[in-house]
Amino acid sequence: MDTSHDLEGVWVFGDYRNYFQNRVTLQLIAKARDLADKLDTRVIALALGDKVHQWAMEYVAHGADIVLAAEHPDLKSYQVETYCSVVAPWVEAFQPQVFLAGATSFGREFFPRLAKRLHTGLSADCVALEIDPETGLLLQTTPGFGGELLAEIVTPDHRPQMATVHPGVFQERPHDPGAVGRILYPDVDVVPETRVKLIRSKRQQTRQAKLEEAQVVIAGGRGLGSKENFERLYELAELLEGEVGATRPVIGSGWTDKERLLGQTGKTVKPRLLISIGASGAVQYTTGILGSENIVAINRDPQAPIFNMADLGLVGDANTLLPLLIEALRKRV
Ligand SMILES: Cc1cc2nc3c(=O)[nH]c(=O)nc-3n(C[C@H](O)[C@H](O)[C@H](O)COP(=O)(O)OP(=O)(O)OC[C@H]3O[C@@H](n4cnc5c(N)ncnc54)[C@H](O)[C@@H]3O)c2cc1C
Repeated sequence: MDTSHDLEGVWVFGDYRNYFQNRVTLQLIAKARDLADKLDTRVIALALGDKVHQWAMEYVAHGADIVLAAEHPDLKSYQVETYCSVVAPWVEAFQPQVFLAGATSFGREFFPRLAKRLHTGLSADCVALEIDPETGLLLQTTPGFGGELLAEIVTPDHRPQMATVHPGVFQERPHDPGAVGRILYPDVDVVPETRVKLIRSKRQQTRQAKLEEAQVVIAGGRGLGSKENFERLYELAELLEGEVGATRPVIGSGWTDKERLLGQTGKTVKPRLLISIGASGAVQYTTGILGSENIVAINRDPQAPIFNMADLGLVGDANTLLPLLIEALRKRV
C-alpha cells in the first residue's frame, strides 16, 4: 500500500450506481484533473463495492491517476455508515487537499456525515470550483443565503476542502483506453451498518436521464397559473422533441413530479434550446439552466430577472403565447 504523498491530491468519490445515466463521477474526475494540474498534484478516485475493478479502470480511462479500491461483500450496497467507516480513516491517513462527490441522493447523505466526522466544512450543490492562484485554496461557488447571491466559499483551516456538485455541471473527458493509472487495494476494516438492514432493492423507472440529456427543454414556472396550463408544456415539448422541466413552486403545487425540478436542488440541464415560461429567474432555478446554449424566456413582467440571461425574451401572457406557439409549430409539422 502506497502511503507516500501520492495520495494527498484531489479526491473524487466514485458513485457508479445508475452509471449509464448518471455520469457525475466522470464529470468530477474531469474537474479534479483541472484542479489537480493547477495544484501540481494527483487525481485520486475512490471505488467501493464488492467488485469494483471495472469501475476503477473506467476512472483511470477518464483521468484518475490513482484509484483507491475497496472490495468487500458488505460494501455491495450503499450504506452511509458503512461507507463512512471505510472512507474516514483513509482521509485521516492520506490527508487529501480536496474531496468531491456528486450531489446525488447518496452523495448528499454521505458527504455531510463524512465532513462532520472529519471536522471539516462542506459546500453543497456547487456550481463552480476553481483554485485561487494566490492562496491555492479551493474556491467553492454555491447559491447561498436563500439563493439571493452566489457565495464563494473557502475552507482555509480544515482539510479536506469538501464539496458536492450536481450532475451535469462539468463535462467529462473522453474515454482514453490507453490512459495509465494505479489501482490500489488498501486493507479495509469494514464495520457493516447494523441499524439499517437492506432487504431488497429495485431500480426505479424515472425519466431523469432523458431530461438531463435532452437537446430541447421546456421549463415552466408558477406564472403558468395552473396544472392544466402547465400540461400544455408537454405538447410543446413533443413538437420540439424535448423534455419538460419545472421550477420549485410548480413541484410544490403538484403540477408535475419532482424528477422534473430544475436548479440548485434539482437537475442541471445543458440543452441546445431552453424555453423558460412563467418563471421569474431566481438564481436557484437559473443555476440549473446556465449551461443551455440558447435561452428563450416568456414572462409578462419586463423586469423579470430571467430576461437578463435570455438570448430572446418575449414579454407577454404565457397562457396566450403558448397556444399560439403550439399552433404555429403544428402547422409546420
Ligand atoms: C435553499 C433554496 C433552494 C431552492 N432551490 C430551487 C430549485 O432548485 N429550483 C427552483 O426552481 N427554485 C428553487 N428555490 C426557489 C426559488 O428561490 C424561487 O422561489 C423559484 O425558482 C421561483 O419559481 P418561479 O419562477 O416559478 O415562481 P415566481 O418567482 O413566483 O415567478 C413567477 C413568474 O411568472 C411571471 N408570470 C406570472 N403570471 C404570468 C403569465 N400569465 N404569463 C407570463 N409570466 C407570468 C411573473 O412575472 C414571475 O416572474 C429554492 C429556494 C431556496 C431558498
